[in-house]
Amino acid sequence: MEILRKNIGQAVLEIVRGDITQQDTEAIVNAANKQLAPGGGVAGAIHRAAGPELWEECRKLGGCETGEAKISGGYRLKAKHVIHTVGPIYSGSAQDPVLLASCYRNSLELAAKHGIESISFPAISTGIFGYPIQEAAEVSLKAVRDFLQGNPGPVKLVRFVLFSEKDFDVYRAALEELLP
Ligand code: ADP
Repeated sequence: MEILRKNIGQAVLEIVRGDITQQDTEAIVNAANKQLAPGGGVAGAIHRAAGPELWEECRKLGGCETGEAKISGGYRLKAKHVIHTVGPIYSGSAQDPVLLASCYRNSLELAAKHGIESISFPAISTGIFGYPIQEAAEVSLKAVRDFLQGNPGPVKLVRFVLFSEKDFDVYRAALEELLP
């Protein structure tokens, strides 16, 4: 089955294969660009599914720096909120994992601040931004685990939504390694 679930304190970390635009969690995370503009990849899919009102709101948010996060409404999505975060463009430097982990941590902190209980993430930076999926899986799963272990707050479900079977398999192996 293309789902794997692990308990972390009072919360659940889940990986599934699917389309992030279809998730029914309270928030979904967008792998955004610094302008928070529609564009390609997962951002394009989220803007198409949410409708033009999402870009209308995003253009007023003043952009977003790499590793930071901003929140908007979800409009025509099932999710009530979209959290936009800008992943690093992979360079092979020591900053890459620091910035990628910041994306997850800042998105989760923003979600907690808004009382959001469930949130879905894509594999940030692993498309156009070129982050190798194996390294991204390790960094992102660890960042989420650390957050959930350290913050017994409102966030009770964190779901990773992997678009391809290959990416799902990499995440499944990384999660089994991190939380046997
Ligand atoms: P980035 O610029 O951060 O690399 P991309 O949108 O290019 O962002 O890709 C990020 C990841 O999202 C890739 O692994 C890609 O396969 C995946 N992806 C693309 N569309 C979707 C979707 N609808 N749902 C979930 N993941 C998606």
